[in-house]
Amino acid sequence: MKLFISSDIEGVAGISSWEEARKEVADYEYFAGQMSLETAAAAEAALRFSAEVVVRDAHGTARNMKPDLFPEGVEFIRNWSGDPRRMMDGIDESFTACLMIGYHSEAGSGANPLAHSYRSGLIYALRVNGEVLSECEFNTMIAAYYGVPLLFLSGDEGLCHKMMGKIPGLTTVATSVGTGASSRSIHPKTAVKRIFEGVEAALQAGIPDVIALPEEFRVEVEYKDHSECYARSFYPGAKRKDSRTIAYETKDFYEVMRFIQFVC
Ligand SMILES: [Zn+2]
Repeated sequence: MKLFISSDIEGVAGISSWEEARKEVADYEYFAGQMSLETAAAAEAALRFSAEVVVRDAHGTARNMKPDLFPEGVEFIRNWSGDPRRMMDGIDESFTACLMIGYHSEAGSGANPLAHSYRSGLIYALRVNGEVLSECEFNTMIAAYYGVPLLFLSGDEGLCHKMMGKIPGLTTVATSVGTGASSRSIHPKTAVKRIFEGVEAALQAGIPDVIALPEEFRVEVEYKDHSECYARSFYPGAKRKDSRTIAYETKDFYEVMRFIQFVC
């Protein structure tokens, strides 16, 4: 068994502000620590099933987590290679399942004060076939592209509910509930404990089926600012739909990710 863990910070227990997610700010250190501990708990549970575990740091600089807080046996992917798989960079057909830790709701959602899609200042909404999607959903689809199912998710409650609705039986741990710019969260140690137990339970229950990908993808990127939209409308195959939205169609989900990589 081989497991891929992708970790973000905007859905870890307690986080409530961008000041806590950015490396330049003092508040960040604590939350980078919490991101490490939550991910290490998932990795520790995974290793009990003698899994090979690869951890992908997927927030900001992709150099957030502290490897020495992890059990021996884990491998890390840090920093960005530039591959369109982005937050899932490193995943391929050799993995049995993937896990996502510290994830957050999509841009425009009220479920997390840090809700965003890729670049928070740039993107108003990302839609595929008319539905507004989160980073978690794009990542679930690129994993499915390689035949890898999502086994476990932790993050804000809104995202957990959304994903449980889409993937029946998915094991999740909700860390927080957003209200406006605030969040109400479980205790950081409770989050770590529940994530360990959740991953263990998910692995005991067995590896789920891979989600079916649509036959074709109609992607729309709606920007906050029209000038950002105009410049990106020159991506090969992209069409300007209105002054703030570009559209792109393909049957290949890797091409969706390549498009997102260049226009988001
Ligand atoms: Zn992030």
